[in-house]
Amino acid sequence: MHRIDQIYIDGAFVTPHGEEDFELFNPATEGVIGTVRLADADDARRAIAAAKRALPAWSRTTLSERAALLRRMHAAVVAREDELFAAIVQEYGAPASRSRWMVQHAAQVFLDAIEAMEAYDFERSLGTARVVMQPVGVVGLITPWNSNAGFIGSKLAAALAAGCTAVLKPSEMSALQTRVMTEALHEAGAPAGVFNIVTGRGDVVGAAIVESPDVRKISFTGSTAVGKSILRAAADDIKRVTLELGGKSPTIILDDADFTTAVPLAIQAGFMNSGQACIAGTRILVPRARLAEFEALAMAAVEATIAGDPTHPDTAVGPMVSRKQWERVQGYIRKGIEEGARLLAGGEGRPGGRERGWLVRPTLFTDVRNDMAIAREEIFGPVLSIIPYSDEDEAVAIANDTTYGLSAYVVTTSAERGARVAARIDAGRVMVNTLAHEPRAPFGGFKQSGLGREYGVFGLEAYLEPKTIIGR
Ligand code: NAD
Repeated sequence: MHRIDQIYIDGAFVTPHGEEDFELFNPATEGVIGTVRLADADDARRAIAAAKRALPAWSRTTLSERAALLRRMHAAVVAREDELFAAIVQEYGAPASRSRWMVQHAAQVFLDAIEAMEAYDFERSLGTARVVMQPVGVVGLITPWNSNAGFIGSKLAAALAAGCTAVLKPSEMSALQTRVMTEALHEAGAPAGVFNIVTGRGDVVGAAIVESPDVRKISFTGSTAVGKSILRAAADDIKRVTLELGGKSPTIILDDADFTTAVPLAIQAGFMNSGQACIAGTRILVPRARLAEFEALAMAAVEATIAGDPTHPDTAVGPMVSRKQWERVQGYIRKGIEEGARLLAGGEGRPGGRERGWLVRPTLFTDVRNDMAIAREEIFGPVLSIIPYSDEDEAVAIANDTTYGLSAYVVTTSAERGARVAARIDAGRVMVNTLAHEPRAPFGGFKQSGLGREYGVFGLEAYLEPKTIIGR
């Protein structure tokens, strides 16, 4: 049994004032694996005060001093890779192959931040002015449970590279991986208060960070509903806000696509992270003329997808993170059937006759209309919808007919058509015939998928304010 009863403030592990305990579960077994003592609003305020004290000195460090810390942080996370891997699989149930990628990503982001910092112009001359990019100040970083270690790493790395100090509030559901990350980052030896990590409830600790006048910027990754409430609250003192929110991403299969590659790519894009990914390609747009051919291949691929024990190397889809999430996904499967979509694979219940574990049967619907709830709302589980279209214009119109705009996928054998369709999609990122992430490129959403960008120089700039100095 894990017992996590400390938070990290001012360079030290301390006991929170908060008195509430929160149970941690293994989603593959539904067994309790530990408890975490949650911080309260007072703890958040202590952490903000520590970050504020640390700001003057940290904001004046040289780029090479910051790079040295980020390099030590990278090494410290690498040294904990096996522990982090075990924590992610245990408390989150991500399949082993995905968890391995998550661990590497959580370390790599520190090197990516150094590269961005070294490529960035912190000072430039514009006409008679000198423009200096200055750290925005104390920042509040709020992360979700899906891929939490990666978000802890990427948000902290960019904030510290910019010269900001930070208070991070991770999801309480990811307390094990948070502990491993915090211990690793502590070992890297940052000056006290430069980063603080306070695990607690969103409406308590998260809200206290968002409301604090000492916090000049919030970077939030999570649901669109909470993102909207943060944006409203931030209006009170005009805080800077970066929001990475939900998605309902289209995968457009063009009529020239080779289905031997298109089908696996579409299924992988949809089932990534067991469907619990903001960028999951959950609406598969298929040309009507080739619909039957695509359906047969996709049905076979989904039926062959192994859902179950996340520690097994062949598992592609692990459990949902919580009972609540499992019930929500089951509800959407029922809803799809009620709405008249045709079930091609999967359905309600658990895979393989299992009785325990928050596992969902990999599910594929066809004859889905884009106005159905399963095509409009983020399900956050392994439930995919095939939506037929007649021509390229209609495919683009369906792809863009969503309140979201995070990611999109295009599959084609023509580079020219791929580029043309990519140019017409309203999404922060369009992937043509690939699922490979590019850490130097900006990441973020159009429309209700977010505000601002993370990663690379764009992500770094989000923690900076331009200051114009004219005259001497
Ligand atoms: P969530 O919005 O419920 O919670 C996210 C974080 O916000 C948690 O730490 C939570 O405790 C905190 N929070 C909740 N209420 C708050 C409040 N009132 N004030 C301040 N903080 C508060 O999201 P989740 O269920 O943890 O994560 C899943 C969601 O995240 C999905 O919608 C997914 O699409 C989205 N997501 C987006 C991206 C992206 O990069 N765009 C990446 C991953 C996840």
